[in-house]
Amino acid sequence: MMFDSRFSWLHPYGWRTHLRALLPLAICEWVDKGEDCESRGADHFWYNKDGENSACYYCRIVRGGRHWVKPVSSNSSPTQ
Ligand SMILES: [Zn+2]
Repeated sequence: MMFDSRFSWLHPYGWRTHLRALLPLAICEWVDKGEDCESRGADHFWYNKDGENSACYYCRIVRGGRHWVKPVSSNSSPTQ
């Protein structure tokens, strides 16, 4: 079983995502995703749903567009 430490326990829905990664699929049905990260003051963590839409690991929100592609400017650039 893969354990992906990218997900933050500090995220309001993070524990759900961890449980879904750790537990068998049948139990995952009980531990559903959160409703909306932004309503809890947190950021979505997008993944490629079908090439055109982005879905969030933490919640049920799905949006059009490739939000999983992070803008390069988010990293610290020493040559500024
Ligand atoms: Zn989300």
